[in-house]
Amino acid sequence: MTRVLLVEDHPLTRAGLRAALADAGFDVAGEAADGLAGLDQAIALRPDIAVVDLGLPGLDGVELTRRLRQAVPDTRVVILTMHDLDTEVLAALAAGADAYCVKSSNPQNVILALGVVAEGGAYFDPAIAHIVLRKIVTPSAGPVTQASPLSPRETDILRLIAEGAGNADIAKQLSLGLGTVKGHIRDILEKLSAADRTQAAVVALRRGII
Ligand code: CA
Repeated sequence: MTRVLLVEDHPLTRAGLRAALADAGFDVAGEAADGLAGLDQAIALRPDIAVVDLGLPGLDGVELTRRLRQAVPDTRVVILTMHDLDTEVLAALAAGADAYCVKSSNPQNVILALGVVAEGGAYFDPAIAHIVLRKIVTPSAGPVTQASPLSPRETDILRLIAEGAGNADIAKQLSLGLGTVKGHIRDILEKLSAADRTQAAVVALRRGII
């Protein structure tokens, strides 16, 4: 059973989440109403997943995510928030969040996100996916850039993927054969350990590659 820690300061929201997660078969192992208590509980409980509200007293959700990454690196972080502001979404991703859910969305999205994250994937609420993609195609002041494992050609292809181009479009724009494009995409997924195109784009964003 996937063990979950809830860090959310609003009692009703927390109760609703606890009920929804329990119904969906998750083990809600702990709860905290502020960031510092959340960090303490995560260290004590070592949950598989921490669901972290962005607006928290004590430590905010971004700072808590950063500290969780250091203190309990095996715990995956799902951000849950009212906000769909670009700066908040990107700050949470840069801090190392694995998923980002917007509270106004269907609660089933949160269940879906936890399922994906429990399997080792990344999830972005459809309501904020555009922010992530826009950031990828306008790579100004992003997260700290690491050395990219991708060749310039692969980077070009990944940018086009992030813009929504299909294989045929990419082949045409870069004057490459379709088979060549498919080969490059296989290499990109391999190099980024990504399961699919969306995940590749997200990994690239987090690592500041594109
Ligand atoms: Ca809050």
